[in-house]
Amino acid sequence: MILTDVIIIGAGIAAHSVACRLCDRGKKVIILTKSNKHDCNSTLAQGGISVALREDDSYMSHYEDTLSAGCGLNDKEATMTLVKEAPGIIREFIESGMNFDKNADGSLSFGREAAHKLARVIHAGGDRTGLKVMEQLYKNLGDRAEIRENEPVIDLIVKDGEAVGVITRDKDGNFNTYCAPYIVLAAGGIGNLFPGTSNDATITGDSIALAYRSGAELKNLEFIQFHPTLLTINGKNFGLISEAVRGDGGILVNEKGERIMEGVHPLKDLAPRDVVSRAVYSHTQKGENIYLDISGISGFRSRFPNVSEICESNGVDIDKNLIPVAPGAHFHMGGVKALPTGETTLPGLYAVGEAACTNVHGANRLASNSLLEGLVFGRLTADNIADSDRHMRTAQYTMPTVKMNVPLPSKKDIAKVMMKCVGIVRTEKSLLEGIEYFESFMPDKKGFVSINPMLCTDEELEIYNMLTAGWLIAKAAYNRKESFGAHYMENRLN
Ligand SMILES: Cc1cc2nc3c(=O)[nH]c(=O)nc-3n(C[C@H](O)[C@H](O)[C@H](O)COP(=O)(O)OP(=O)(O)OC[C@H]3O[C@@H](n4cnc5c(N)ncnc54)[C@H](O)[C@@H]3O)c2cc1C
Repeated sequence: MILTDVIIIGAGIAAHSVACRLCDRGKKVIILTKSNKHDCNSTLAQGGISVALREDDSYMSHYEDTLSAGCGLNDKEATMTLVKEAPGIIREFIESGMNFDKNADGSLSFGREAAHKLARVIHAGGDRTGLKVMEQLYKNLGDRAEIRENEPVIDLIVKDGEAVGVITRDKDGNFNTYCAPYIVLAAGGIGNLFPGTSNDATITGDSIALAYRSGAELKNLEFIQFHPTLLTINGKNFGLISEAVRGDGGILVNEKGERIMEGVHPLKDLAPRDVVSRAVYSHTQKGENIYLDISGISGFRSRFPNVSEICESNGVDIDKNLIPVAPGAHFHMGGVKALPTGETTLPGLYAVGEAACTNVHGANRLASNSLLEGLVFGRLTADNIADSDRHMRTAQYTMPTVKMNVPLPSKKDIAKVMMKCVGIVRTEKSLLEGIEYFESFMPDKKGFVSINPMLCTDEELEIYNMLTAGWLIAKAAYNRKESFGAHYMENRLN
């Protein structure tokens, strides 16, 4: 058994933000991650970080935009904390060495993204913000925390109603037990539950499944953001075309070159993501091809080097100014119910980043608010832990006796069902069909309980987590009676 002060599950921006601050405060931290530390959504982030740093901006304006995109379902206190703490924490991050893009006069360059009243998105390396931010966090953390790669967490260990540790399987197939007074779940969202996604391959709903099996409460699982513009060729997705492209003048057009957002929403191409995604989806469902027309953007390659590379490596000629796009699963607003300071409903378990639902995003996340969430709530969670005095309790993992229902579906099968039944447009019938599908794989009538990992491969455990998360999401969507933001029920409007 390995003992430490804090165990962090995942290695993205949320995990690193917590780890850096905890190490500053003298804590011993172990980070456990499924693959290598670069494999996460954080390194893929393009557009940037929204923060009220301009003289003509204010955190109140950022607050209003966040609430408006979230359909007012956001937790107001948590949202206020996010936007109010943001300028100070970002300034400190810049002081630690982070180099955001600047204008010729040395001032910060602000990009515009959907549903923001003004340009307030800072970025780095053009559209390589996530990578640059993570490189800075790796530098800031140095070797102060131990990072164990290729070691997925399989289950949390719960004793007398408290999270006390985790069980992992390392790359040599050994099961390892770790115990600590504080377990931080930062294992990200659910993108790969859908066939088209912007997400890294390691993001398979593990946060939801781990928390569910441990008894922690989940929240707003039905709110899944589909990004309107994934590079899509012959129905296959090849990566994200940042919203900043539309912020800089890109427009969505059909095969005849007609604007598809005209008359759909007053903000046209910069309407909230759920509105734009549904509009694109309604065309692609009819078999039409939709393009992002970038002819109005000068110096595209230097402003969007990452997007240019994604396009050109997949045979799309940027000089023709038309990028073929379709929507794909991008961000999970729902997750493990948590406070901005990380506490979940299970003592000892903290959740942060996309894994958590502090409800700052409501029914739809405002663009570029999630890297911010990782940095700001990561910091608050770390300070909360450093200021608390939970005691170490240890326990061995009891290997469950329950076996999986075999044969399991493939990841592709699950993704297909999710898109059909719990996708961009949902109906009561489709959701019931989804729930029934998932329940046919339930090994125990009581739910998707812990199963014996000794009888499963890593891939099977991932599939089991996907089934668990898919089932919980379908049920949450069925129970939300009205359409709100990213949860769109045909014939059930609010
Ligand atoms: C292509 C793309 C572009 C984006 N652009 C922006 C942007 O411009 N601005 C913005 O604000 N947001 C953006 N987002 C969203 C943002 O990047 C994510 O919401 C954010 O990075 C999530 O950070 P995280 O630390 O919570 O999770 P992640 O960065 O996803 O990290 C999760 C970690 O958990 C690990 N993990 C998963 N399961 C397990 C397990 N069982 N055991 C151990 N480890 C596990 C993963 O491998 C990974 O290391 C973008 C997302 C994508 C995919």
